[in-house]
Amino acid sequence: MGSLRGRTALVTGASRGIGRGIARRLAADGALVAVHYASNEEAAERTVAAIRDDGGRCFPVRAELGVDGDVGALFAAFDAGARGQGAGPELDILVNNAAVSISSRIADLRAEDFDRLIAVNTRAPLFVIQEALKRMGDGGRIVNISSAASRRALPRTLAYSMSKGAVDSLTRTLAEELGPRGITVNAVAPGFVETEMNSSRRATEEARSAIAALSAFDRIGRPEDIADIVAFLASDDSRWITGQYIDATGGSKL
Ligand code: NAP
Repeated sequence: MGSLRGRTALVTGASRGIGRGIARRLAADGALVAVHYASNEEAAERTVAAIRDDGGRCFPVRAELGVDGDVGALFAAFDAGARGQGAGPELDILVNNAAVSISSRIADLRAEDFDRLIAVNTRAPLFVIQEALKRMGDGGRIVNISSAASRRALPRTLAYSMSKGAVDSLTRTLAEELGPRGITVNAVAPGFVETEMNSSRRATEEARSAIAALSAFDRIGRPEDIADIVAFLASDDSRWITGQYIDATGGSKL
């Protein structure tokens, strides 16, 4: 523990689910963590309280992504929050985690829903990285949360899968450009994880068992399962890994 002492991390979508798990783990490893959220202030406060109870350092950052002016608002809040903690504007670790999902086959997909999904899941991470790079020194870390859906044919999540496929391309391409600066860029792709995102798909015990059976470990993923992988990618120990898609599905459908 303590391997991230002196580093500042920004985790988008850290009020709930996987993002909360990642924020808690990075703070436990010693980073000062910006806990970003869109509108659920109560949930964000719960993440902040959990981190502080564990002796970690963090501050909340509110900004809705996928709308005009989103990146400017995010970094204005980040800079102010970091200053409030006596930290500089430097950002060492960026985790692009915030995303939304829609369940729709091609016949029912509406253009406005597609546009919003792409704005939140694909456009926002790209331009968040663009702005983050102005604050990131050599040796920085970028982790994009992708999804198993980007590499599997799941007709019910066509648009979501596309939005994450673009994140995978972003990851690989940027890793090439940022390698000379020692900045690594990797994607972590969870399968089913116990969060609110797809809770309706886990509504019955039967459905839960079927989802658990997808994994070689016969259980549904937990936010900590993903957070531990992200913590490794955020650490110095992962310096020789970049541009990669890390399957974090608990060995689903081997
Ligand atoms: P979640 O529980 O639904 O939480 C979503 C988080 O993102 C919340 O913090 C939310 O903030 C924030 N957010 C949502 N829309 C936003 C917007 N427009 N602007 C800013 N922030 C926004 O999600 P999750 O299940 O933890 O998923 C986290 C990541 O893992 C996502 O990238 C998702 O695609 C990926 N993933 C999840 C699963 C799974 O099974 N759960 C599987 C594969 C991949 P508020 O609290 O303020 O709303």
